[in-house]
Amino acid sequence: MMAWQDNVRNVVPYEPGEQPECKNIIKLNTNENPYPPTDKVKNAIKNFDTDTLRLYPNPKAADLVRALADYYQVEEEEVFVGVGSDDVIGMAFLTFFNSNKPILFPDITYSFYSVWADLYQIPYERPPLDDNFKLVKEDYYKENGGIIIPNPNAPTAVYENLSVIEDIISHNRDVVVIIDEAYIDFAGKSSGELISKYDNLLVVQTYSKSRSMAGIRIGYAMGNKQLIHYLNAVKNSYNSYTMNRTAITAGVASLQDKEYFEFMIDKVIHTRERIKKELSQLGFTFTDSQANFIFASHRKVLAKDIFEALRKEEIYVRYFDSKRIDNYLRISIGTDQEMDLFIKALKQYL
Ligand code: PMP
Repeated sequence: MMAWQDNVRNVVPYEPGEQPECKNIIKLNTNENPYPPTDKVKNAIKNFDTDTLRLYPNPKAADLVRALADYYQVEEEEVFVGVGSDDVIGMAFLTFFNSNKPILFPDITYSFYSVWADLYQIPYERPPLDDNFKLVKEDYYKENGGIIIPNPNAPTAVYENLSVIEDIISHNRDVVVIIDEAYIDFAGKSSGELISKYDNLLVVQTYSKSRSMAGIRIGYAMGNKQLIHYLNAVKNSYNSYTMNRTAITAGVASLQDKEYFEFMIDKVIHTRERIKKELSQLGFTFTDSQANFIFASHRKVLAKDIFEALRKEEIYVRYFDSKRIDNYLRISIGTDQEMDLFIKALKQYL
């Protein structure tokens, strides 16, 4: 006899990092930004007219789309917004990865991709990274149903030059290639400049990292008008991904303070480079991180043991010791003061 359980879409869920609310914890486990958003966001929320909450928001979040289009110097029809880039990517999977051929994404990468693929029953293959955690671009030249690559990658923090990304896009003109740029503002050039050249390229970014607004949930995609049109059609059919009024207001305000944005990113990058030097002196090896986190392994001590020792000091990082990722820590970049306490705790333990 059939049971309803036989028909469940039974996926292995994504396991997010812990979100303790305790203020004393040094939270270096989910790649958030340690600095607050610009005061423009603070003021926009303070002055937000709550009377407008009785009205539905603009379904396309038109004000935010316009502000993003202005910011990136693209057309409004080339921008799509959603409730965090996770949802934008999920929507893109549902919309564009509709073939029997497997989609491709790297092994190792952001673990949400396989969750969506499983949920939407999209077959996938995972070309391994090379020994330096770099992409092997030729692996993406075979027939496939679509591609998603994060640049920089997570949790490895490795950035691929635009030429590698462009080679992959240009070899795959018959499928959609998504470049997930959650961490691009801490790295090099964005593939956004390629959207006018390739109608199969969708570039996804987020407010959660470089804009210090993980709590507000804004993600967006940029691409050819036809791609964006299809995304909007799927979104409107669902209608569960509509941006709320407060988020639209705050999202627009964030884009109005480029100076603070650049200052804060420089600060995070500066701290990251300093911490790399400290970690190296403590016997860690790590990739050339171009994100707001460092992916590091100690030559002698297990990542899990370091994770636990730090936890006792109320410092939260993430560790990986699976078949896929052997013995690595992922450490988000905090404030200088937080990172000093992190290094102090490491020195005491090692
Ligand atoms: N892509 C990558 C590579 C990420 O690491 C994250 C954050 N966990 C996301 C997308 C999603 O970010 P958000 O939904 O907060 O925009």
